Amino acid sequence: MISATDISFGYDGNLVLDGVGLAAGPGEVVGLIGPNGSGKTTFLQTLYAALRPRDGLVTIDNDPVTSLSGTALARRVAVVAQETPSDLPVTVAEMVLLGRAPHRRLLTPFNREDHRTVAAALTRVGARDLADRRFATLSGGEKQRVLVARTLAQQADHLLLDEPTNHLDIRYQHEILRLVSELNVTTVVVLHDLNLASRYCDTLVMLNHGRIVSAGAPEHVLTAEAVRAVYGMHVERVYAGGYLQLIFSPIDKPSLHPSTA
Ligand code: ADP
Repeated sequence: MISATDISFGYDGNLVLDGVGLAAGPGEVVGLIGPNGSGKTTFLQTLYAALRPRDGLVTIDNDPVTSLSGTALARRVAVVAQETPSDLPVTVAEMVLLGRAPHRRLLTPFNREDHRTVAAALTRVGARDLADRRFATLSGGEKQRVLVARTLAQQADHLLLDEPTNHLDIRYQHEILRLVSELNVTTVVVLHDLNLASRYCDTLVMLNHGRIVSAGAPEHVLTAEAVRAVYGMHVERVYAGGYLQLIFSPIDKPSLHPSTA
């Protein structure tokens, strides 16, 4: 269970989160959505104590996140942040093995079970054949899948993901999010694609200018009115194959470059 209450945060005095909160129950997938600059990444970073809020409280299974040591936190929370550590001179298998570190005492070698866990994690994300490649040489999408594998190897029961579908082709976008939704791990995920968010999240939290506009079931959050107000886009909602699908079109505005004809 991840709970955040009344979180406010500012960079250099500028308030970018103003009293936001969320609750992700056991096994639930909560999607953070909102336009660029609305505060999603900042909010996510407060959930794993990478940023300390000015006000408010974040708890993991009722323990304040700031009270947990780095190792205790890493046993319970796995994170895929936006910046990928791309220039580490490690193989893919070694990168995923790093996910086992919180389970090992300092300087004890990895054992056979660690290696088995790594192989299973790579298989689950379709990256087993990449195990011996140097991580730095992978494409953006391959890196993203490997970093998700690292979180699986970490076996934490909370997962925080910042745009995990970035760089992924359409098949892996769905495969990664389906995997996450089937893991039975409490998850908060930042997503840009509202159709993916609607399909794979149990609950959505929509941010705009550092505030929560609405939160709840995807079909209640992704209304035409909210999408128009927050993104400035017209949306048509259709149900296809049992899923809500949003079809977007720009709202007509006077052209910035009026024809001279
Ligand atoms: P989102 O993830 O929704 O795009 P962010 O959380 O990255 O939004 O950013 C929210 C606001 O905070 C933006 O106005 C952004 O410019 C600002 N911001 C983000 N990171 C920093 C930083 N390190 N220093 C100063 N301002 C920042």
